[in-house]
Amino acid sequence: MSSKLRLAVLGSTGSIGTSTLDVAARHPERIEVRALSAHSRVDELVAQCLRWKPRQAVVTDVARAADVRRHLKEQGCPTEVLEGPQALCEVATDPEVDAVMAAVVGAAGLPSCLAAARSGKRLLLANKEALVVGGAVFMQAVREGGATLIPIDSEHSAIFQCLPEDRSTWGQRVDHIILTASGGPFRQRDPASLEAVTPDEACAHPTWVMGRKISVDSATMMNKALEVIEARWLFDLTPERIRAVIHPQSIVHSMVVCRDQSVLAQMGTPDMRVPIAYGLAWPHRMESGASPLEWSSLKALSFEEADERRFPGLFLSWHALRGPLGSTAVLNAANEVAVERFLAGRIGFMDIYRLNARALGAIEPRLGEAADLEGLMELDQRVRAQVGQWANARTM
Ligand code: NAD
Ligand code: MG
Repeated sequence: MSSKLRLAVLGSTGSIGTSTLDVAARHPERIEVRALSAHSRVDELVAQCLRWKPRQAVVTDVARAADVRRHLKEQGCPTEVLEGPQALCEVATDPEVDAVMAAVVGAAGLPSCLAAARSGKRLLLANKEALVVGGAVFMQAVREGGATLIPIDSEHSAIFQCLPEDRSTWGQRVDHIILTASGGPFRQRDPASLEAVTPDEACAHPTWVMGRKISVDSATMMNKALEVIEARWLFDLTPERIRAVIHPQSIVHSMVVCRDQSVLAQMGTPDMRVPIAYGLAWPHRMESGASPLEWSSLKALSFEEADERRFPGLFLSWHALRGPLGSTAVLNAANEVAVERFLAGRIGFMDIYRLNARALGAIEPRLGEAADLEGLMELDQRVRAQVGQWANARTM
């Protein structure tokens, strides 16, 4: 076996994917990039293949695969090009891959995450939607496959860094956790003016540079809602033991409140390369490329409650967690459709919340539907079709 960590980066052309390659480039002696993947930004994938010469590259949008193959052949690049969503599962289970960075956006990442979990990989999970949809099925696959699940989402990485390696002690140690949220671009905006927000305004995040879907989720605080659900599964906590607080500076990445009321926080500059480097080096540490925290320029660290009138979406997470199994998959599917429609200019910003709340109230998961991947994918499709109809008919 090679002594290097052999890494597959799923969603390598995205914000997390490129940050992962940036960290990997700093450690050629420790990390070998074996596989990359992209959906539609194929020019970037070609450039990445020429730079990294991975054994395999996946183009999930089959219509674009031939182009990538031709370009790589012309340039004499030996990378084999696989196509279609199923190929993500193929590289995620390759016996010659040790670690999988799951950085696809949305529920589309669930099958490959499950496949990596079942084949016992080190699974670096950025793709929170996969866990929000997969829930118990996902965690069971991790246990049965003997996978090492390491959160990459900065808040969950923070909690993970504050906890000891021995998971069996977590339940007895933790009173509750506090996820921090920047509050996004509309933290101080008059709630009445939110109806008119444009996609570009929503994507202008004050402290993090991210993909467009998660940027909109941060503006609605649906991102924090998804993270509350993500934390429920990652740390096996009941909903009332997960709290969220607004912290505009994004320096404290999250906190663990212990049984004795001691509070452990993880801090640092807001740079995703920190949790990525931690996931790659775990249980050790290595250089990430992030700038040090400048204490002299830190004026204050402040914390405030999230206002329900401005961020009603956040509160849907606890509602979904208390609903029947599969409710979090309903919320996620509704949100993916709503955000897509909003980014395409077809619905308003506050319609995202309306569609999410309506779906959660009106669509019941069928008995047993949340018990396996097939059922979850059916539920996901059913919700997408229904929410799409509501959006078309403009009956939010
Ligand atoms: P992004 O939009 O920048 O990149 C998404 C990647 O997924 C791209 O490589 C794209 O080609 C691929 N992709 C898109 N649709 C696909 C599909 N249907 N099938 C297969 N691949 C597809 O997104 P991002 O900001 O890098 O976020 C990726 C994931 O990480 C999301 O789940 C997000 O919530 C999570 N995350 C991101 C950040 C961040 O700072 N960007 C932080 C925490 C968590
Ligand atoms: Mg996060």
